[in-house]
Amino acid sequence: MGLFRRNGKKRRPAPSGGAAGARPWVDHGLADGDTAECGRCARTLRVALQSASSVTVSHDGALEGMALICTACGRLLCCACALAASDNPYLPRCDRCGGQVTLPVAG
Ligand SMILES: [Zn+2]
Ligand SMILES: [Zn+2]
Repeated sequence: MGLFRRNGKKRRPAPSGGAAGARPWVDHGLADGDTAECGRCARTLRVALQSASSVTVSHDGALEGMALICTACGRLLCCACALAASDNPYLPRCDRCGGQVTLPVAG
């Protein structure tokens, strides 16, 4: 009776340009202490890689000048641009694809 068929629903962001891997916040090629440019306002940002076990995005000013990365397309953004792209002041988003942004993680 029970014939169950699981629909493996795979969501993968279409990589246009092909630069972003499956996990752009890990496969970013950045090193801790690097500088990077915001993809929107071109301001210079400091790369502070997080350990994979403790990914936190705080919004109390600690992100000022830090590079954030979009988990969907890998775009680098400053917190001001990421917050400006979101209608939620506590949830920074990518201005290009609307994906969630986070601090880059050390691979
Ligand atoms: Zn910016
Ligand atoms: Zn994005």
